[in-house]
Amino acid sequence: MSKDHAETGNLQPHLNKLGAALDNYLKFEHPDAYFSINEWQTKLDEALPQTGVGIDEVLKILTDTIIPNGSPVPNPGFTSFITTGATTASTLASTASSIASPQRYLRTAFNYVEELSLHWLAEMCGVKHLQGIYSSGGSVANLVALGGARQWAFEKQGHDPALHGIDRATRIYASHECHHTIQRSGGVLGLGRRAIKAIPCDAGGRMQTEPLVEAIESDLREGILPVAIVANAGSTNTGAIDPLSDIGKIAQQYQIWFHVDGAFGLPGILDERLADHYQGIEMADSVIVDPHKWLGASVGVAATFVRDREILNRAFTQEPADYLEGSAVDISEEKTKIEHSLDDFGIPYFDYGVELSAPCRGIVVWAMIKEIGVAGMRDRIVRHNDMAYRLADIARDHPKLELLDTPTLSICCFRYRAPEIKDLDQFNQRLHRQLIRENTYMPSTTRINGQLALRPCFVGARAEMYQVDGLVEAVIRIGDNLINN
Ligand SMILES: *Cc1c(COP(=O)(O)O)cnc(C)c1O
Repeated sequence: MSKDHAETGNLQPHLNKLGAALDNYLKFEHPDAYFSINEWQTKLDEALPQTGVGIDEVLKILTDTIIPNGSPVPNPGFTSFITTGATTASTLASTASSIASPQRYLRTAFNYVEELSLHWLAEMCGVKHLQGIYSSGGSVANLVALGGARQWAFEKQGHDPALHGIDRATRIYASHECHHTIQRSGGVLGLGRRAIKAIPCDAGGRMQTEPLVEAIESDLREGILPVAIVANAGSTNTGAIDPLSDIGKIAQQYQIWFHVDGAFGLPGILDERLADHYQGIEMADSVIVDPHKWLGASVGVAATFVRDREILNRAFTQEPADYLEGSAVDISEEKTKIEHSLDDFGIPYFDYGVELSAPCRGIVVWAMIKEIGVAGMRDRIVRHNDMAYRLADIARDHPKLELLDTPTLSICCFRYRAPEIKDLDQFNQRLHRQLIRENTYMPSTTRINGQLALRPCFVGARAEMYQVDGLVEAVIRIGDNLINN
């Protein structure tokens, strides 16, 4: 294959074939992998190709060998992690930007939509007063938010931590149930993972405020600088929402940055039945949400919201460089009208976080919201919550099931039980292994107050109510079989 520029040929015929292969994949008609793991590995295992096979052959390997042996994550019955398959709108938008705007800067329609979609997302999630920036996921979004918190806490002391590093012991308060990217953020920001103080939770997995106040008081006596209080709006484990209003007031009282981790659960605010749980969000200094979780975006889309992005600029500035600033017209000096996409950078998102080159993520959020509107998003969130509530009702009443946690959002923790089972943890672990091998219902497991639970988390755009009954049927059937054999 040596045709000149074969690598930049027309997309359309190939995208047609790719689309057909992906539609076929999404039928999930075959078990887990199409071939055995051994088989597809053998097919793919080859030395570095010195000569190319051409685009048709690449596409053939993609459609015949790689896609059919892809991930169960987009399967509607996959309820293990809080990520899902991208919706059609998301897929189209990310494909479009990979060609038409490989970067999120310059005065392009994509840069404009990046900002527009951040406004839409903030308004939809009840944090209209905040300014946003996208990043690759909740991990980076938390890091960026806490970078803002660190900047704020130290600037009040007359010190620039981004410029000079930090000069004293600090503390971040977060619940026992917080996502461990909070600890990692502490490590990366130079505060240390041990600077995260784990505050105990109540039986429902919500942060208790008394020990929070005690911890702050004790640190202040010892001269430790509080940097942030982190509350969950939807914990990863059970979907618990911390008492945001009480925690927000404590943050205000002690003048501590209030961060809300809503990576999974922030869109739950669309479910009007849950409005009380989100009260207090207006006090937040920073909030994160992962459109690639509950909203159905392709993976790699998260947002951090803060009151004023300038604090992020100070926290994450690279300081000016000729290869960047020198390449755009300085409009303040030359008073040039912006007429060409290269006349300026557009909104300089690269100043507000840790990424310079980055894909346009706003276009994905824009496409998803534009397609179904807030009403469509709300319907989906309500449907997923209803799935968890229905499962909870069944588990509460069924003699062979036990509900281990009352769901707030779309996660329901329950297990199989029978009087003759001695070790319920081990039994449910075995049941879970068999369940996921059937490839129809794939929840994860977790521990609730020490007990092993099956933990379906309903977030996929393709997940539907009928699956709740299917899951219950499968759990009872496998449990009964295990007892009898
Ligand atoms: C998933 C999750 C994260 C991490 O997000 P990634 O997108 O996986 O990096 C952080 N916080 C919470 C509460 C989460 O559920």
